Amino acid sequence: MLNIDNLGVVFDADAGLVRAIDALSLAIERGETFALVGESGCGKSLTALALMRLLPDAGHISDGRIGIDGLDTLALPEAAMRRLRGGRIGMIFQEPATSLNPIMRIGAQIVEAIEAHTALRGAAARAKAIEWLGRVGIPEPARRIDDYPFRLSGGQKQRVMIAIALAAEPDFLVADEPTTALDVSVQAQVISLLKRLCRQRSLAVLLVTHDMGVIADACDRVAVMYAGRIVEMGAVREVIHAPTHPYTAGLMGSIPPMTGEHERLLQIDGVMPRLGATPGGCAFHPRCPRVMARCRSERPELLPAGASRAACWLHDGEAF
Ligand code: SF4
Repeated sequence: MLNIDNLGVVFDADAGLVRAIDALSLAIERGETFALVGESGCGKSLTALALMRLLPDAGHISDGRIGIDGLDTLALPEAAMRRLRGGRIGMIFQEPATSLNPIMRIGAQIVEAIEAHTALRGAAARAKAIEWLGRVGIPEPARRIDDYPFRLSGGQKQRVMIAIALAAEPDFLVADEPTTALDVSVQAQVISLLKRLCRQRSLAVLLVTHDMGVIADACDRVAVMYAGRIVEMGAVREVIHAPTHPYTAGLMGSIPPMTGEHERLLQIDGVMPRLGATPGGCAFHPRCPRVMARCRSERPELLPAGASRAACWLHDGEAF
């Protein structure tokens, strides 16, 4: 469904071009939920913006190809790309409060998406909007459809955003930190709703998140990003329970366990490098507890590592 091949994104800076995403490749199949995870500034949200061609002004795609169901989206004129966004590509963002139009009734916002991307009009579109409100768990949807967004809780607003995104009947959904602004108790409900609706409709989903805890139940595969590159990719179960890259192991070590006792959470020393200040060799080497001499000068590509793949020299046969 989605194929990103060797994607590169650069930004214009005072000192010249700065590389923000480097040689990123991934593929997502229909019906699959794929997570892109990493700390703030690793390039995961930029990847989502690049594939929707919504990069900020200073940024542009320097290399690679993005294909959606065989369509080369980077070659599309802007008008065609606009039709694709909100249509075949649905989008859900972090802040439902700012994504919804505050002076438009929620029903009108869902109807707008339905009329723009399906054949339904007027009363039929409104009936479909009520149906969608019910599907995303808004109580008394026939009555709530004429509410303004300020009457809804944060969780309800995000449910309405999900209804708007899915009512356009997309094939592919991008959800960028969809639960970050919500209370912890509501996060799990919204994620499980998203997962259920996407499975029912065989959607391909890209879930962008900094929260490893969110992906455990919601996703099939995961790519972990660090400093603009994928450093580990594999089935969620494998990556969570048997991380093969020291950075992923550190991320997992920083998640509080649900049961049992841990004296102290592990943590990764240091911070993610700034844009334009990525160290040579393996970008993680200044923070890595297992750094070796070659890590400082040679950059590893993704290598087979157990059931996953990791960009780490620990998995190069020559290292041993
Ligand atoms: Fe650590 Fe070296 Fe692996 Fe990088 S390549 S993660 S520095 S062991």
